[in-house]
Amino acid sequence: MSKMIYLDHAATTRTLPEVTKAMEPYLDIYYGNPSTIYEFGEKSRDAIEHVRETIARTIHARPEEIFFTSGGTESDNWALKEAASYYERIHEGEKGCILTTPVEHHAILNSCQELEEMHCGITFLKVDESGRVILREAENAIAEQENACLLSVMYANNEIGTIEPIDDLGRLAKKSGLIFHTDAVQAYGHLPIHVGRDHIDMLSASAHKFGGPKGVGFLYIRSNINLPAFIHGGAQESNRRAGTENVPGIVGMGKAAELAHRRMRMENHKVRYLRDYLAHRILQEIPDVIMTGNRKFRLSNNASFCFKGITGEAAAILLDTQGICVSSGSACSTGSYEDSHVLSAIGVESEWAQGAVRFTLGAENTKEEMDYVAEKVKMVVADMRGN
Ligand code: PLP
Repeated sequence: MSKMIYLDHAATTRTLPEVTKAMEPYLDIYYGNPSTIYEFGEKSRDAIEHVRETIARTIHARPEEIFFTSGGTESDNWALKEAASYYERIHEGEKGCILTTPVEHHAILNSCQELEEMHCGITFLKVDESGRVILREAENAIAEQENACLLSVMYANNEIGTIEPIDDLGRLAKKSGLIFHTDAVQAYGHLPIHVGRDHIDMLSASAHKFGGPKGVGFLYIRSNINLPAFIHGGAQESNRRAGTENVPGIVGMGKAAELAHRRMRMENHKVRYLRDYLAHRILQEIPDVIMTGNRKFRLSNNASFCFKGITGEAAAILLDTQGICVSSGSACSTGSYEDSHVLSAIGVESEWAQGAVRFTLGAENTKEEMDYVAEKVKMVVADMRGN
C-alpha cells in the first residue's frame, strides 16, 4: 500500500472539495471588504451573515450570538480571559475564580496559567479514570467557591475522545448562577449540540476539525452575557472582535458546517464501525495494551491506546515510515518523554502513558486500511519490544 493512511482527524481534517469550491469566489471575484458601503462589499457582508445564520441554526442559537474568530485557541482565550476581566470589573477589583478540568486542551490550560499569574483563582475539578467530570465533586467544588466566575469544561476530549456530561454540567452551572463555557472544538460538527437545552453560555469551535479551512472558528456568546471584546480595533463583529473578517475562511466554515451536520449521522455510523473494528483487532492481537477514555461516552472516531514498554512518539515515527499518520500522547522535551497531562490526570501510570498512541478516523477511511494499520501496529510494537 503506497497511499498515505490518515488517522489523525483530531489534529486536523482535509478541507472538503465542496468547501474549497465555495471559498474560491471570495478570494478572487468577490474580494470586497465587508465593511465598505458599496454593493461590491455587500456581497462579502451578505456571505458572512449567511454563515452566521447557518452556524446559529446548527447549535440552536441566534445569529447575533455567533462571533467569528481565528479558531479554537482564540475563542478559548477570549471566553476565559474576558469572563475573568468582566467579573473583576463588576466586583470592584475583586478577582474571580475559574473552575475547569485538568484534561482540557492547552488553549484552556495555558490561558488559566496566565490568569493565575494575574491572581485569578483556578480550581481543577476531579475527573474519573475515563476523564469525565465527577458531578458530585463538581457540585461541592462550586459550592466552596464564593467568587466563582466561570465553569469551563470541554465538550469532548481531543486525546482520549471522552464526552463530558455537558447537560448535567450546564444544569449545575445554571443552578449555581455560573457562566458555563465549553470548548467544543472536537465535538462541533461531530455531535448534535443544543446550547439552550444544555444551558451553554459560551462555546468555542474551529473549522479545520470538521472539514473546513484552518485559521477560522467561532465563539458563541449567549445574548445576555456581556463578554467584553478581546481584540480591539474596528467595529467588526458588533464591536466585539475587531479586524477585517476572513471572508473566504468564514464562507468555507459555513459550507463545512452545513455538510458536517447533513452527514453527521451517516459518518458517525461508518467511523464508529471502523474504529471498533480497529480497536478490536489491536486489543485482541497485541499483548499489554489498554484503551484509554470512556467506552460509552466517546467520540465515534477516537481509538486511543497505551502500549506498555514502548514510546508513543517512536511508534508514531515508525508508523509514518509505513505511510500511516497517527499522534502520540507524549511530547519529547529535552531528551525525555513527558507524559500527556490528560493521561496523568486520569491516573495512567507513566510506564503505560509513555506508550500512548491516538488513532482518529475520518469518513474517507476504509476497512482495508484498518486491516493494514492493525498489521503494521502489531509489527511496530513487537519490533520496539524486541520480540
Ligand atoms: N481545543 C481543543 C479541544 C482542541 O482539540 C484544539 C485543537 O486541537 C483547540 C482547542 C485549538 O483549536 P485551533 O487549532 O483552532 O486553535
